[in-house]
Amino acid sequence: MESEELMEKIVSLCKRRGFVFQGSEIYGGLAGTYDFGPHGLALVNNIKNSWWHTNVHEKDNYYGIDSAIFKDPRVWEASGHTSGFSDPLAECRVCNTRVRVDKELGRLGVAADEKMSEEEINALFDAHKNEIKCSKCGKSDFTQVRAFNLLVKSNLGDFTSKGDSPVYLPGEASQGIYLNYKNVVDTMHPKLPFGIAQIGKAFRNEISPRNFLFRTREFEQADTQLFIRPNENKDAFERIKQERWDWYLQLGIGENKLRVKQHDNLVFYASDACDIEYEFPTYGFDEVEGIHDRTDYDLTQHSKHSGVDLSYIDQQTGEKFIPWILETSMGVGRVFLAVISDAYTEDEMNGEKRAYLKLKPAIAPVKAAVFPLVKNKEELVEKAREVYLDLKKEIPSAMWDDNGNIGKRYRRQDEIGTPYCITVDFETLEDDAVTVRNRDTGEQERVSVEELHSYIEKHL
Ligand code: ATP
Repeated sequence: MESEELMEKIVSLCKRRGFVFQGSEIYGGLAGTYDFGPHGLALVNNIKNSWWHTNVHEKDNYYGIDSAIFKDPRVWEASGHTSGFSDPLAECRVCNTRVRVDKELGRLGVAADEKMSEEEINALFDAHKNEIKCSKCGKSDFTQVRAFNLLVKSNLGDFTSKGDSPVYLPGEASQGIYLNYKNVVDTMHPKLPFGIAQIGKAFRNEISPRNFLFRTREFEQADTQLFIRPNENKDAFERIKQERWDWYLQLGIGENKLRVKQHDNLVFYASDACDIEYEFPTYGFDEVEGIHDRTDYDLTQHSKHSGVDLSYIDQQTGEKFIPWILETSMGVGRVFLAVISDAYTEDEMNGEKRAYLKLKPAIAPVKAAVFPLVKNKEELVEKAREVYLDLKKEIPSAMWDDNGNIGKRYRRQDEIGTPYCITVDFETLEDDAVTVRNRDTGEQERVSVEELHSYIEKHL
């Protein structure tokens, strides 16, 4: 299947089966925004819970927080976002469409990124401009490259901002962790190395939001910051890289679709950086998570700008220093898209073509769907409701489905990625057993109602 066609099928399945809808759809849609529907939210929550479990619950020295969206405007000055958080864009002189120059150069195999100065990137763009075509009109007639700041302003600043600075929406979620570093030290008394984890919203004025959930203007980031002693970064960085890689495999993503991309061009304060990339249909390999060795930059900056000393004092030795930071920052929407793309499968079952999401059962939005064989036999429906309600007590994501005939229900549940479909039929009334059908193989097994819950649990 052409990869473009595949992405179209995935986007259409996401809408048809209640995973993802265009934001503000009934008003024609607001570009760069998406809403998660019932099954999409369940899948997002399962991904986030898995991430939280691995990064907080399974560790003994990581602390979870949830910081406010609105932050003092000086936070974004200190972090460098007001001056340096920008994308290099050029405008098509024919149709005014803007192109992201670093990405276009990257497609030609020319190393360029948003960290370059305007002069540097303009020099590269001048050399290759004739090879780049406008995505809308196909012409190669562009303006000079200019840096466009991505921060989104709010009007909360009309009342509370200091001086003329607006209160921005977070360009990245991680600043909330730096702001709470001292609070966590003072209240939890952690010993180095320790980590803080947070899942939070980020907003970026992306000039050309595109590729479905890949580049949106509002998205969630799942971040960890590991605070370490100065110069103890190298081994820890490698360990974190491995841990994050392992998590993607644990989520069920195929290893052949993942790769680590080393950054050649580091920002001045960074000691190391790489991305974990997934090979998306149509767009190819692109970033789902960044892993950064940030030295003491963040806490030093916030110490300077806030006037509060963010040094750590080692209680045993009395040493005082600014900890270094190793960061992991994952886009929840991009991982959701990677998971769905990876799970999307087409095959033939009983002579019929079908599409299904081969999701790892543990993250499937619906773990089991219960059907009555027919809808018009009261006794049968009553029994099926009883089976369903009993199962739901143990497996809350169990779903009732009596829409259409059995074939349609299987097709619907396959596309939702439901690993088990349970049919209550006339025999159930005699033998108190149901038919359980496996999503991937189509195999059916007779299971007694009494053992149903443990059967499903065992297979999850
Ligand atoms: P890109 O180069 O693709 O714009 P980035 O390097 O700016 O991404 P980071 O600032 O490192 O991204 O953010 C960490 C993670 O947040 C990314 O790996 C990605 O998964 C996610 N992310 C960043 N921008 C967006 C966006 N506009 N839409 C959805 N997810 C995003």
